[in-house]
Amino acid sequence: MRVFDKNSNIFRLLSESISQGILVVNEQQEIVASNQRSDQLFGYDKDELLGQQLSILIPSAQREKHKKLAEDVYWEDIGIREMKGRNLSGLHKNGEQIPLQVGLSPFSLYGNKYVLTLIEDLSEIKEKDNQIYELNTQLEKKIRLRTQELRDTVAILKREVKRRKEAEDKIKDALQRERELNDLKTKFLSLVSHEFKTPLSGILTAATLVGKYNTEEGQGKREKHLKTIIGEVRRLNTILTDFLSIERLEQGKEVYRLADFSLSKVVNEVIYDANMILKDGQKINYPQNIDDTIINQDERIVGLALTNLLHNAIKYSSEDTEIDFRVNLSENKITFHIKDQGIGIPEADQKHIFDRYFRAENVLLTQGTGIGLNIIKAHIENLGGSIYFKSKENTGSVFTMELPLART
Ligand code: ADP
Repeated sequence: MRVFDKNSNIFRLLSESISQGILVVNEQQEIVASNQRSDQLFGYDKDELLGQQLSILIPSAQREKHKKLAEDVYWEDIGIREMKGRNLSGLHKNGEQIPLQVGLSPFSLYGNKYVLTLIEDLSEIKEKDNQIYELNTQLEKKIRLRTQELRDTVAILKREVKRRKEAEDKIKDALQRERELNDLKTKFLSLVSHEFKTPLSGILTAATLVGKYNTEEGQGKREKHLKTIIGEVRRLNTILTDFLSIERLEQGKEVYRLADFSLSKVVNEVIYDANMILKDGQKINYPQNIDDTIINQDERIVGLALTNLLHNAIKYSSEDTEIDFRVNLSENKITFHIKDQGIGIPEADQKHIFDRYFRAENVLLTQGTGIGLNIIKAHIENLGGSIYFKSKENTGSVFTMELPLART
């Protein structure tokens, strides 16, 4: 024991020359030697630790664990045993905990067992670790923030690209529509000029000829030319009515009037007019079952639609053909069928027949505007009805129109 006396020069010489703390503990866990570094580390005065239990330097939470460790150490072979990395800490006199790295070296002297403990203060390293950890955390935070900012910017950019693409598409659409409109205008103007030119020159010729037949014998011929004039004027009138209808329909200005009217009266008028334009040998088979029938619908539209369908049947059929005009009445619906033995509609064109200005390729040499069916379809649908057809080229067509009835 003398070797650890406070005045022992050998111990002092050896222990004070190194930078680590040194503690020597006996089997009773009493501190029997402590160098200056140890005293400083734990905040004790010189020699104050001597004779104290080692446990005063161990935080209470670790004491139990340390006790077990100490018991094991005395039975181990002599040699330094590192307690590095075990998250050790010592207890400073002021109650603060100090992170430590400890090396244990058991030895025997004069029949007694001791443990020499080399103590390294890790406070500075821990402090650095903490700083590094802190810096890392801040860096990670910054990276997260920047990544988020980047994501947000990418999202904004994507939205912007999408917005611009949509705007571009809109402009393209508008341009396309503008082009189509221009095409339509051109088509429309040439159509109008063409459609008006023929009847007008017909009227001019007929009127000139009428003037030439000034004798009584020429009455028959005069009447024939007058009939031509009336027919052509009617045609012009129909075309103009169609154009006006388009405008009214498009602006939603069309007004429908549902009222009771005599079905046979309207059908008679329509057939009477149609008879005027029949070709040689053409015949319209009058519907059988409509006498005394009063229906509630828009009389003007029914007349307009039937006129249109009948005129087409006549126009697109040759001489010596028949046109069947049939009517089916049920409690809440009236159905008209107009069947001809005409040129029919080529299959490829059938899906476009109700498109405005559309004309099938087999009628291009016959006069027409491609407006009539488009207009009557709009009217019929506005009234809650429908129109459809079946057709075979060179055999004939049958157009069917259905209209709802409020009451019969
Ligand atoms: P338009 O007769 O003035 O050309 P419509 O709108 O009345 O215009 O008809 C559109 C097109 O439908 C016609 O150009 C023609 O090709 C076709 N069509 C209509 N009715 C008949 C029919 N009864 N037989 C053959 N084709 C028809």
